[in-house]
Amino acid sequence: MYDKYSMVADDFINDEEIKATLKYAEENKHNEKLIREIIEEAKLLKGLDHRKASVLLHCDIPELNAEIFALAGKIKKDFYGDRIVMFAPLYLSNYCVNGCVYCPYHAKNKHIARKKLSQEEIVREVTALQDMGHKRLAIETGEDPLNCPIEYVLESIRTIYSIKHKNGAIRRVNVNIAATTVENYRKLKEAGIGTYILFQETYHKESYLKLHPTGPKHDYNYHTEAMDRAMEGGIDDVGCGVLFGLELYRYEFAGLLMHAEHLEAVHGVGPHTISVPRVKHADDIDPDSFDNGIDDETFLKIIACIRVAVPYTGMIISTRENKSVREKALRYGISQISGGSKTSVGGYVEPEDEDENSAQFDVSDNRPLDEVVKWLMELGYVPSFCTACYREGRTGDRFMALCKSGQIQNCCLPNALMTLKEYLMDYASPETREIGDKLISQQLMEIPNEKTRSIAARHLAEIEGGERDFRF
Ligand code: SAM
Repeated sequence: MYDKYSMVADDFINDEEIKATLKYAEENKHNEKLIREIIEEAKLLKGLDHRKASVLLHCDIPELNAEIFALAGKIKKDFYGDRIVMFAPLYLSNYCVNGCVYCPYHAKNKHIARKKLSQEEIVREVTALQDMGHKRLAIETGEDPLNCPIEYVLESIRTIYSIKHKNGAIRRVNVNIAATTVENYRKLKEAGIGTYILFQETYHKESYLKLHPTGPKHDYNYHTEAMDRAMEGGIDDVGCGVLFGLELYRYEFAGLLMHAEHLEAVHGVGPHTISVPRVKHADDIDPDSFDNGIDDETFLKIIACIRVAVPYTGMIISTRENKSVREKALRYGISQISGGSKTSVGGYVEPEDEDENSAQFDVSDNRPLDEVVKWLMELGYVPSFCTACYREGRTGDRFMALCKSGQIQNCCLPNALMTLKEYLMDYASPETREIGDKLISQQLMEIPNEKTRSIAARHLAEIEGGERDFRF
């Protein structure tokens, strides 16, 4: 039976409840009165439950869909201003004992190059990432207790945080590794990770079991209950996501929101971020072999409806998507994007030959970080390399409280501007720097609190003079 307070996956991601939700949404997709009421409720910025949000997702009345997109854009602007947080993935190891049918790391793939970075290689990769200007990484591994045990991941995190190169340092390491034990989550917390990210892939249990036929990841409940264990281990920023294309998107959407409702109900805080990956071509993977691929328009509608349903949750889009889709997605809710990414193990130092491909999927946005930063600023966004909240202990419900208080504009905007200034001073091309300096002068005026504005202005001048790492 559906119970968001239950700690059992089948109860909080309840198949009957999802099916009933889809039926309700289908029956009401033309119900203008109800849809208008839901849009009005969403304007209160308290979010929407999975049933109401599913009605919006199903809605096929063009004028109301336009309203939903406009509202998503407004919520995005009200909460996040023009800021877009930047990050890059770092693949540590692609050894994997699982059989995920959509992932080229699956154990039966004998021709993909298997690689695992040594600590020396990590230093070189991270140095290359720092030379691009990155301050925030998401580390990625396949699941392999022998080749990639938790001790290796912990040692790698220590290595990454220890590298001080020129003016740079990685200030936040997020972790995307397979579901693990409370004890291991506690170790990750102690190692100082930012967000623990784990994609559900699909919330549809029957499909999940088929898509993960072998290996520890086959255990749907263990995977689905991972965020609860992570929170029990003390990690209070968790990142959810589904891999769109595997199952019916409407099912996944309801499941994703039910997961968020469960985390909020049980732990008092929902997911810190939601990612929206779509299945991509990779080594021996053909995305067309999955029946549930979604077109760009549907993809954007999903993003807009997530934005409206969970206004305080950050939303991440990766370089799985091309420039044009990313540009539209930014308008409707995305608050964090990767740039200059490589999905191969060791790919930042050594681009791979065709015949030794270790990549997890093909990247559709191959632009270097400087170009992505410039493009964002030309679109009016403020690329942010900020990691202050996590370093100031503003995680979990403390971060959400800041969001809800509206004070985020007095905190995040100056932090974004100061970290952007560092980027411009240390890594940007002259053209990017020129655009950025103008943008910073304009945006400085948007800081509501006068005192904060003048402190930020002073710090910006100090950064120009060579000092680094200020934060509110
Ligand atoms: N091995 C860990 C796990 O099981 O969760 C870490 C995740 S893996 C390094 C990162 C994510 O890439 C996966 O969770 C999956 O959603 C995504 N992924 C795998 N194959 C993909 C493909 N062909 N296209 C797009 N994304 C893919």
